[in-house]
Formats: sequence, structure tokens, C-alpha cells
Amino acid sequence: MSAIDTLPPLRDVIETHGLSARKSLGQNFLLDLNLTAKIARQAGDLSEADVLEIGPGPGGLTRGLLAEGARRVLAIEKDARCMPALEEISAAYPGRLQVINGDALEINPLSHLTPPIHVAANLPYNVGTELLVRWLTPKEWPPYWQSLTLMFQREVAERIVAQPGSKAYGRLALLAQWRAEAKIVMSLPPGAFTPPPKVSSAVVHLTALAEPRFPADAATLSRIVAAAFNQRRKMLRAALKGQAPDIQDRLIAAGIDPTERAEQVSLEQFCALARQFKK
Ligand code: SAM
Repeated sequence: MSAIDTLPPLRDVIETHGLSARKSLGQNFLLDLNLTAKIARQAGDLSEADVLEIGPGPGGLTRGLLAEGARRVLAIEKDARCMPALEEISAAYPGRLQVINGDALEINPLSHLTPPIHVAANLPYNVGTELLVRWLTPKEWPPYWQSLTLMFQREVAERIVAQPGSKAYGRLALLAQWRAEAKIVMSLPPGAFTPPPKVSSAVVHLTALAEPRFPADAATLSRIVAAAFNQRRKMLRAALKGQAPDIQDRLIAAGIDPTERAEQVSLEQFCALARQFKK
């Protein structure tokens, strides 16, 4: 299927609708439709799926998702200025694009979506990380989404896929990798965006696993990991001493050297430690 539609080029769309980029909304637009189609393809076969897109802006990625065959796209955009441009896309793809003008942090999109559901977004850094954490910590697992295809600053993308022993390894890696498969699938230089941001970006693709990789209670695991990495330079027996008076014994029972630092501890070991806290 062709990735390019018959709508005007994005530069013209921006000009026509006066969509000068606003820093306060983290607006760095992707204007190359070949590139947005390539990002859309990273989400997999969307022909039988609904896609939740957060922050469509002038619609570059939206057009990529639709041209690549997404069954339906629900796009949530905070900037009301983008609505007319998005309505034009909606008219070009009858019945396949629904746009909501609002804050993705406040809207529950579920009633507008039919499974299977995939998520795709090129979002400002702070909103993207906040939403990622929410998507990774739903009340029930498996979550409503099958995959997340998300643009991040390169440094954040590296934190999501990081392995033990690396500086980037921490809460985000453990949260992401416990119940999902996370991969960096594309790297983009600042010049791919208009205006160019200061740093490079990367697309991360996360696929929800049916079951967590290792059994653990989500809240306990999250609490222990947070405490361990809050004091990441301390030995674990010190960093976690507030968690239980016999933390040293619990660490040993979980197969963890109590003098180790959080950075050295694998996901499997953190899950084993969380299980030591079960009543
Ligand atoms: N997806 C477009 C693209 O790739 O060209 C725009 C990307 S731009 C980095 C981020 C978009 O997210 C902007 O259009 C911005 O207005 C929107 N945005 C920022 N915060 C948002 C929020 N809380 N909810 C929904 N959209 C938001």
C-alpha cells in the first residue's frame, strides 16, 4: 500500500492553518510522510486494529498510520489549532479517523476503541514518559493495548531497553521489561523534526506479554525497585533497610548479594525479592 496520500504536503498544511510550533506543547513536527509511514510500519499490521494516537499535531504520523492501512485511528490532540488540519485528514479517510481535542493525561480513550488496540505517538518527553508509566501499570494485565510504538528522546529510549550494569538501567527498564518486550526500532537525528530539538530521538516498540516474565506482586515490585534506585549508589541492604528489618535475609533468600548495588540486580532477582515480601 502506498504510504503517500493525496492530501497537501505537511509544510503547506502548517502554512494554511498557521500551525507555528509551540515550545510549551513540545511541538517538534515530522513533515516527511515517507518517514511517518516508516514509523507507522513499526507498529506492525494495523489492518485489523484500532490505533490510539496521542498528539497528532498537523497529522504526519496520523497520515502514515492511515495510509499504512490502520482500520481506525483515534487521535487525541491538546492544541485546538490542529483541529481543522486533522478534520481534512478525517474527510480523506471516511469513518477511519476520530479526533478528540483534549489532554491525553485526562481522557480515558477506551470507550472509543475496539480491540485489538495499538498505540502510536510522537509526544513531548514529559507527557510521553508519564503516559508510558500509566500504560505499563494498569490495574489488570494484559492491558488494553497490544503494542506501543513511541518516539522518545534517545536517552529515554535507552533507559527503557537498558540492561543491568549500565547507567541507563533503572525503574523504567524494569517496569517496561517485566511485562513487555521493548526494542529500539528506529533512530532519528534532530534534523528529522521541524523545528529540530536539541537531542536525537528514537522509536521504541513495546509488545505486551500475556504474563509477566517472572511472578511478583506489581505494587510490591514497584515499591522495592523505587526504593533501590532512589539510592542507587548505596549497597542494597542500606538502600532497602526501610523496607523490612530483616532485609539482609530477604535479599539472600532472593539470591541477591546484600552488598550489591541496584544497578547490578536483574529483573528476575528483583521479582524474587518482591516475592519475599508476600504475606
Ligand atoms: N505527531 C506529530 C508529529 O509527529 O509531527 C506532532 C508531534 S509533537 C512532538 C507533540 C504533539 O503532542 C503536539 O502536537 C502537541 O500539541 C501534542 N501534545 C502535547 N501535550 C499533549 C497532551 N497532554 N495531550 C495531547 N496532546 C498533546
